[in-house]
Amino acid sequence: MNNERGCNHRVFNQPKTSEPTNIFATDPLLSHYLQRFGEDIADSDTIAALNEYGELAGGYLTDLGDSANRHKPEIRIYDRYGHRIDQVDFHPAYHELLTKACQYGIHNLPWANPGPGAHLLRAMLFYLHNQADAGTACPITMTFAGYSVIDREDHLDAFWRDGSLSTDYDPTARHASEKTGLMFGMAMTEKQGGTDIRANTTEATLLDNGASTWRLNGHKWFCSAPMSDGFLTLAQTDAGLSCFLAPKWLPDHTPNGILIQRLKDKLGNHSNASSEIEYHDCLAYLLGEPGKGIRTIMQMVGLTRYDCALGSAALMRQAMVQAWRHCTQRSVMGKLLINQPLMQNVLADLALESDAATLLAFRLSRCLDSGTAEEMALFRIGTAVAKYWICKQAPAFINEAAECMGGAGYVEEFILPRLYREAPVNSLWEGSGNVQCLDVLRAMNKEPECVDALMNELKSVQGSNTNYDQHLAKIPIMLKGDPGELEFSARTLTAAIAQCWQAKLMMEFYNDDIFADFCRSRLSDHHARNYGQLDAKTHIDAILNAVVV
Ligand SMILES: Cc1cc2nc3c(=O)[nH]c(=O)nc-3n(C[C@H](O)[C@H](O)[C@H](O)COP(=O)(O)OP(=O)(O)OC[C@H]3O[C@@H](n4cnc5c(N)ncnc54)[C@H](O)[C@@H]3O)c2cc1C
Repeated sequence: MNNERGCNHRVFNQPKTSEPTNIFATDPLLSHYLQRFGEDIADSDTIAALNEYGELAGGYLTDLGDSANRHKPEIRIYDRYGHRIDQVDFHPAYHELLTKACQYGIHNLPWANPGPGAHLLRAMLFYLHNQADAGTACPITMTFAGYSVIDREDHLDAFWRDGSLSTDYDPTARHASEKTGLMFGMAMTEKQGGTDIRANTTEATLLDNGASTWRLNGHKWFCSAPMSDGFLTLAQTDAGLSCFLAPKWLPDHTPNGILIQRLKDKLGNHSNASSEIEYHDCLAYLLGEPGKGIRTIMQMVGLTRYDCALGSAALMRQAMVQAWRHCTQRSVMGKLLINQPLMQNVLADLALESDAATLLAFRLSRCLDSGTAEEMALFRIGTAVAKYWICKQAPAFINEAAECMGGAGYVEEFILPRLYREAPVNSLWEGSGNVQCLDVLRAMNKEPECVDALMNELKSVQGSNTNYDQHLAKIPIMLKGDPGELEFSARTLTAAIAQCWQAKLMMEFYNDDIFADFCRSRLSDHHARNYGQLDAKTHIDAILNAVVV
């Protein structure tokens, strides 16, 4: 008997401790996608950046993610002498994660280096980062999305734009004009309503019309990344709800009137701090027109919703790879799990779902890169569809992937519990599941060009598969339904669109066999509610070979 040192038994049939892995190079979808749709960016610099980040995310950043989630941020409201400081202390791993993300421009790449394919490249980097740590993805996405609003405001000092376009991460507590890099937060939700932001009670009073400066008084019930340099926020003016930028520090280098009440004790998303705040005569700059606050901030929210879809697709990919890896090394009853037919069914089903999620999220990146009116109409409705569907899939998907690993999937030394705790929040924040489905209806009613763009997209593969055609035919019928019933059935409609669209993207990316498998398992009348119910006709080997690693 060859016992290990300090062990009275031989350890066998346990997977090897995982080595750092380049998660870009080992993800066939990413490189194929670049070949297929990224001709504008598939140059050596791009591939080098993705390889570097894939290497980092598959080892160093994942370890940092473990530390940053284990050592949660802590609030210090007062210093030792009783002075109010409102400081949140983060583990050094949190700062290092953001340093690396900013260095690669994940928070600003399409704005700092605009050009063909910039959104797709940034999406891939963001996808890699989320597999290492999703908590830091929150300030990254808010900064990325916030810039799209800031950029339109000529009256703001230039340092706001310049600092947002920097690749420096500067966590020092100073006025934005003195910093080498800036991060943004977003504060909309109040106690009486997060979905119903029209019910916000925070009030804004005009200080100086010329400088568009206002004072805010009120509260926000959720405000993530509260050490950000500026917060896009909403408050009531005489003209109605308006959007503002509230700087963390004042031009005279004293703190602005943003008082942190406490940090939320959350289910997951532990590396990220989420706080409750009050505004006490908080200085703020108007963004957009008074009374048009929702329209102004929705520009930002559209992008954060898109990032939620990307982020959840990344969590699913990470979970699936862990499950796959375990099953290729673990035997039960003398046979590797990967060779057990029922486990193959589960893994192939997970693989289909994971890739369909990623393809749908990246399709939105291509909309942004294209920027044509039709593609932006598709993006408008597509963000709501993708955020609802992908983010809703992620928790159950990760649970299934964890179960493939048996008891190990439930143990904190593995990443699965962290992914599982993280998953629900993408579905919740930036507008919860129902809100996304109602937004699909709103887009259809108010912006009919969205319906045209969507139907053109879905019809482009019509005639290739009977299940697809029959499923597609149901969508216009649902749309013509009674408006009252449409709201009741908004999830049914959104799910139908999402799965149809995913099938179309699978057709575009994979061969006819995998497309047919996807259509039979997702679009036919016999589709299953749990994973692992693919039918006997399914091309299991082809899926596992094409999709996994
Ligand atoms: C970890 C975390 C961090 C957050 N960070 C931020 C932040 O930084 N900034 C910020 O502004 N907010 C933040 N939020 C708040 C988040 O965006 C809100 O919690 C969310 O929008 C839901 O609002 P609510 O909690 O008030 O729920 P409610 O608005 O009360 O909604 C409750 C439920 O009702 C559903 N619902 C609402 N309207 C309808 C309808 N008409 N028909 C059917 N169902 C409906 C919703 O989908 C939801 O499921 C954060 C939340 C979390 C959990």
